[in-house]
Amino acid sequence: MSTSPPPTIPPIESAPEASFAETALKLGGKSEEEARRMGAVDRADDQVERLFQPQYQTTSSPIHRAVWDRMLPVELFAPAEESTPAAVQQVMSRSLDVVRRHRDSKSLYNSEGKIAETVLADLAGAGYWGLLVDREFGGHGAPLRSFMPFLTQMAQVDPTTAGLASVHGCIGAVDPVRAFGSYEQKRRFLPRLASGERLSAFALTEPGAGSDLTALKTRARLVGNQYLVTGEKLFITNVTPGRSIGLVCLIDDKPAVLIADLPAAENEQFQLVKYGLYALKHTYNRGIVFRDFPVPAENLLQVPKGNGLTIAYHGLNLGRVALCASAAGNMRLLMASMLPWADFRRTYGEAIARRELVRRRLARLAGLIVACDALVAWCSTLLDQGYRGEMECIIAKIFGSESQKEAAIELCMKTHGGRSFLHGHQFGDNVHEYLAPCIYEGEGEMLGMALFKSLVKQHGTEFFEPVGKALAAAGMKTFSPANPAHVWKLRSVLVPYAKWTLGEKLARKSHSELGPLPEALRGHATFAIRGLQQMPLEISTAMRKHQLKLADRQCRMSELSGRVQKLVVMLATALYAAKQSDEVVRAAADAICQDLTRELTGRRPDDRYFRSMNQLGESIAAGKFPAIGGVNSDEILMKYEP
Ligand SMILES: Cc1cc2nc3c(=O)[nH]c(=O)nc-3n(C[C@H](O)[C@H](O)[C@H](O)COP(=O)(O)OP(=O)(O)OC[C@H]3O[C@@H](n4cnc5c(N)ncnc54)[C@H](O)[C@@H]3O)c2cc1C
Repeated sequence: MSTSPPPTIPPIESAPEASFAETALKLGGKSEEEARRMGAVDRADDQVERLFQPQYQTTSSPIHRAVWDRMLPVELFAPAEESTPAAVQQVMSRSLDVVRRHRDSKSLYNSEGKIAETVLADLAGAGYWGLLVDREFGGHGAPLRSFMPFLTQMAQVDPTTAGLASVHGCIGAVDPVRAFGSYEQKRRFLPRLASGERLSAFALTEPGAGSDLTALKTRARLVGNQYLVTGEKLFITNVTPGRSIGLVCLIDDKPAVLIADLPAAENEQFQLVKYGLYALKHTYNRGIVFRDFPVPAENLLQVPKGNGLTIAYHGLNLGRVALCASAAGNMRLLMASMLPWADFRRTYGEAIARRELVRRRLARLAGLIVACDALVAWCSTLLDQGYRGEMECIIAKIFGSESQKEAAIELCMKTHGGRSFLHGHQFGDNVHEYLAPCIYEGEGEMLGMALFKSLVKQHGTEFFEPVGKALAAAGMKTFSPANPAHVWKLRSVLVPYAKWTLGEKLARKSHSELGPLPEALRGHATFAIRGLQQMPLEISTAMRKHQLKLADRQCRMSELSGRVQKLVVMLATALYAAKQSDEVVRAAADAICQDLTRELTGRRPDDRYFRSMNQLGESIAAGKFPAIGGVNSDEILMKYEP
C-alpha cells in the first residue's frame, strides 16, 4: 500500500450565498432544514456546471438556448454522423460475437440465471469492458456517438449484457475515475477496469436515501492512511465480492466518492444483503452493509470545486443515454416478437397483422424506436462535443424508459394476447425488465422536475430572486401586481422584469437554417421550434403566478416540463430522420411526431392520420422496417394448426 499522505478534501464552497431554491423555499415558508437541503443540492448542481467550459454549460445548452434565446440554434439539435474508428469497431464486433455465441449455445447464464463468469471473461478478452477507457490506460477510447448505438445493438442480442456495459463504464467506476481521478489514480485503476480484471458498480442508493440524496448516511472516517466506511447501500447492480465500486458516502458531512475494491469474500466488514428482485433478473443486485470497511485514503476522488454528488451526476448523465439506447434495442426485440405472431394469428378468418389496430401498434412502436435512436444519436453527439447535456440526457432517459414501458404493455402484450403470460414469452419473462428503467437512475417525474428547475434557474435568478429578496426586506410574504403599494415598494426590481416581458411579447423570433427536410418532417420541426419559442412566456407566467410557492406546484412544473420534453423529442427526431435514407424510418418519425403534436394540441386524430398509420403498419408487417433487420424473432408459443 502506498504511504503517500492522505489527500485533503476541498470544502464545498465557503460561505455560500443563498441559492434561488433556498431563497424560494425559505420565503415560501419551508423549514430551515428543507431549505438547507435543497440549497445543498442546488449548490452541488452549480459545482457540476463549473466543471464545464462556459459554452458547454446548461445556459449554453441546446434546450436552454432554444427556449430562452430569440434565435433558436437548429444545428445543435442534429446528430453528428457516426464514425467509428476501425479498432473500436473490431472490439464491438468481437463482443457481439461472444454474446451471440453464448446465447446460441445456451451458456449465457449461470445456474442462478445470472450472466456467467465465462461470458464476462470472454467479453474481457474481446475488449468490451475497456470501450470507454482511454487508450493511454489500456482501453479503446470509443466516442459516445459510437458506443451508445452499439449498446442498442448489444441489447438486441442480450439486454443485460448491454446494461452491464453501462453500469461498468458510465455509472460504475470507469467514468468517475476517467473524469475525476488524478493521473496516478487513472494509472492505478483504469487498466484493470479496462481489461475486465475488475468489473465495477455504483453504490449510491441507501435504504433511507433514493430520490433524496441529501439523506445519505453511509460515512467514512479517516484513520491513519485509510478510510473506514460504515453504512448500508441498497439496490446495487452488478455487485458481488471482488468487484470495484464507486462508493458515495459522507466524509466530514460532505458527499464524497471512494473507489472501493471489494474483497473476494464477505467478511465482518463487508456483507451483501440478498433479496428477491423481479427486475434485472440476469445480473446481481444486492444491498451492501459496511462496518468499518477499510478503503485506502488514496482512493478518494477529488473534485476541485465540488463533491461526491458532482461525480454521481456526471456518470448518471451518461447512464441515462445508455438507458435510452438499451430501450431502443429492447423495443426492437419486442417488435421482432410481434411480427411473426401477428402474421400467424388469424381471427375471424384474417391475420391480425391485417387489422388496423394492430398495424397502428406496429407504426407507433416504429415511431418510438426511431425517436429513441434520434435521442441517443443527438445526446451522445453533445456529450462528445463537451456539453454537460443534463437536460438533454434527462429527456433521453424519460422518453426511453416510458417508450419501453408503453411498447411492452400497450403494444406487445395486447398484440400477443393470452400467450403474453406464458413462461418463455418475451413479454411475460421480461415484464419487470421493461418497467424498472422508469425508476432507476432517477424516477421519470422526479427527473422531469429536475429538468424544469435547470431550465428556469437562470431566469429565476435574474428576475425572481431579486423580487424575493426585496419582499423579504420589505417584510412581505407575497406580491400582488394589482396592488399599487406592492408595485411601488418593489419598483426597482420589477422594472427589469417588465422590460424583459415586453421585449418577449414584441420580439420577432427566428431560428437558424433547417436545411433540406422532407415536407412532413419540416412541418414537425417548425412546429417544435415555434412551441419552444413560446415557452418563455408560459414558464415565466407560471413563475410569476406561483411566485415563491412554485417549488410546491409540482404538477404545474411537471406539465410544463412535459411540454418542453415533447417539443424537444419532435425536433431531434425530425432532424435525425431527415438524414435517414429509408422511407419507412422517415414515415415512423412522422408518425411519432404526429402523435406528439396531438398530445400537445389536444386535437383529435383525423382519417388521414389513421390511413398513414395503417400504411406504415402494413409496411412494417411486410418486413420493410430496416431498423429491426437481423433481430432474432421469438418462436410462436402454443402454435396450432390454423
Ligand atoms: C432494478 C434496480 C436497479 C438499481 N440499481 C442501482 C444501482 O446500481 N446503484 C444505485 O445506487 N441505485 C440503484 N437503484 C436504486 C434507484 O436508483 C432508486 O430506486 C431510485 O433512485 C428511486 O429511489 P427510491 O427507490 O428510494 O425511491 P423513493 O426515494 O422512496 O421515492 C419513491 C417515489 O416517491 C416519489 N417522490 C420521492 N420524493 C418526492 C418528492 N420530493 N416529490 C414528489 N415525489 C417524490 C417519486 O415518484 C419516487 O419514485 C436501482 C433500483 C432498481 C429498482
